[in-house]
Amino acid sequence: MTITPNRSQDTSSALIDTSEKSPAVVALGWLHTAKFLTTAPQLHFLPALDVPEIAFVGRSNAGKSTCINTLTQQKQLAFASKKPGRTQHINLFSLGKQGVMDAVLTDLPGYGYAAVPKQDKIRWQQVMANYLVTRENLMGIVLMCDPRHGLTELDEILLDVIRPRVQEGLKFLIVLTKSDKLTRTEAAKILSITKLQAGGGEVMLFSATKRKGIEDVAQLLWKWAHPDAGKKLNASAQANAGTSTEDAPLGDGL
Ligand code: GDP
Repeated sequence: MTITPNRSQDTSSALIDTSEKSPAVVALGWLHTAKFLTTAPQLHFLPALDVPEIAFVGRSNAGKSTCINTLTQQKQLAFASKKPGRTQHINLFSLGKQGVMDAVLTDLPGYGYAAVPKQDKIRWQQVMANYLVTRENLMGIVLMCDPRHGLTELDEILLDVIRPRVQEGLKFLIVLTKSDKLTRTEAAKILSITKLQAGGGEVMLFSATKRKGIEDVAQLLWKWAHPDAGKKLNASAQANAGTSTEDAPLGDGL
């Protein structure tokens, strides 16, 4: 079964309406529409979707749930992923204004938790690798990393798994969480080290506690999911001015 967005509504108008709002307000308003969509223990239980999907991955305790809740401005959204029976599940959240789904956030279970039996760890690593390699509508990955630990061996394995897809154009962001725990010097240092390790991906400092980096991450995710928005906004402006869109600069829509 493929779930498609409701095409009977004009999604472009929702984008054009946003042109008077600041880019951060647009992005955060969009993320606030997040709703639980479905949960699945394995890849083949996930519905096929034809909207862009952005996956959140990271070690247990890296701050992934807090980051998702902060970005979506919903206290409990990602903590649903921590309910008994769901900790090893892939949890999907739909996004979209006016009830029209235009993207999906995927919360993949945290890895590296010592108390998990070895067999479960191996099974889970396979599910995750499978998801990251084969999920067709996956268009971006956000890797959460606690900067006090840096990228761990399991993070490096994940980077190896996704590298071919990143080289093919998959978007990739490393979020350095809990940055409030670092001094300025430490933050600058880990930022530059992680940029070297990110293999072409972006790296941002984030703190839910100090509300740092929220707007930057939100705007990046919005841009990933709306690559044509800049064109639509410019086309609309040109049409309103009665001129050709051919020479219009693309802008970034934000
Ligand atoms: P997850 O296992 O990756 O989903 O991690 P959680 O979101 O549950 O966070 C793990 C721990 O880190 C919790 O105790 C959070 O309160 C804490 N935490 C998360 N984000 C921040 C942050 O920005 N700053 C600080 N100081 N602690 C944080």
